[in-house]
Amino acid sequence: MKTPKWPPCSTGWRANARPGCGATGWTRPNCWGALFAPEDGCLDPGHLAAALHADAKRLGVTVHSGKVGRVTTAAGRVTSLVVGRSRIPVEQVVIAAGVWSSKIGGLPRPLPVEPVRGQLVATAWPGGVPAAIVFHGEGYLLPRGNEAILGSTMERVGFNARTTAAGVSQIRRATARLCPGLSALPAHRAWAGLRPVTPDARPIIGADPDVGGLWYATGHGRNGILLAAITGEIMGDLLATGRTDVDIGQLAVGRFTTGA
Ligand SMILES: Cc1cc2nc3c(=O)[nH]c(=O)nc-3n(C[C@H](O)[C@H](O)[C@H](O)COP(=O)(O)OP(=O)(O)OC[C@H]3O[C@@H](n4cnc5c(N)ncnc54)[C@H](O)[C@@H]3O)c2cc1C
Repeated sequence: MKTPKWPPCSTGWRANARPGCGATGWTRPNCWGALFAPEDGCLDPGHLAAALHADAKRLGVTVHSGKVGRVTTAAGRVTSLVVGRSRIPVEQVVIAAGVWSSKIGGLPRPLPVEPVRGQLVATAWPGGVPAAIVFHGEGYLLPRGNEAILGSTMERVGFNARTTAAGVSQIRRATARLCPGLSALPAHRAWAGLRPVTPDARPIIGADPDVGGLWYATGHGRNGILLAAITGEIMGDLLATGRTDVDIGQLAVGRFTTGA
């Protein structure tokens, strides 16, 4: 086998390029190297959402459940949200509905946020293999509880969030290349989600240029969990003071119409 060329790495540790760098219990014998990122981490997004929800309640936030049908505006400002038969007066609105953001009625512009399906599979954690987040170009796995979470696909299939046999076997094949012991383990379950992806793969964060009180925090694609905290900080500052210290110029909603 030809030795692959490795890009320079600024941090972490790279195994010597040699066959069988799976001395850690990972990877097939034909792996030639790896980058070790000791500060990499992972979390359960469901737990994160529940924790944020609990914290918001603790801080006095009132949570209303319901599907927003449309935003109403008058004299260049948002005025209300239509939820079912109710109309809720509002002064500010943040559009943060993931892939469904563009389906909310009454917005002053189309939002180019497209769904990209990702399927996931859970198995038991392979015996004798240390827990780690392991990733290569075609797949990844990470520990969650006693399970291994295996991912993922990138599929443009509209708003279809179902799993498929082809998707699951693609994930199983790719992750078995990372850890051969996985192939013998049955899938506990498989599920899928829709990533909100924009044409330039950057989120849309900030004010609507034409409608006062209308804000966007959407289109985070593959990184919405990673970027949740910074997005929340930016939006909190914008809503409270109208400004943020973070340079969000490249994330403006207007870039899709003005080329900004
Ligand atoms: C398989 C897979 C793996 C991923 N892995 C990672 C990862 O490793 N790291 C990472 O950072 N990100 C990852 N992501 C991406 C991440 O999940 C998304 O970027 C993130 O969930 C986007 O957050 P969001 O709040 O914008 O949208 P969502 O999480 O989709 O939430 C949108 C919410 O809006 C609600 N909603 C929709 N329409 C309306 C309406 N009309 N009225 C009221 N509410 C509405 C929905 O019910 C939903 O609760 C992954 C995604 C998938 C599918």
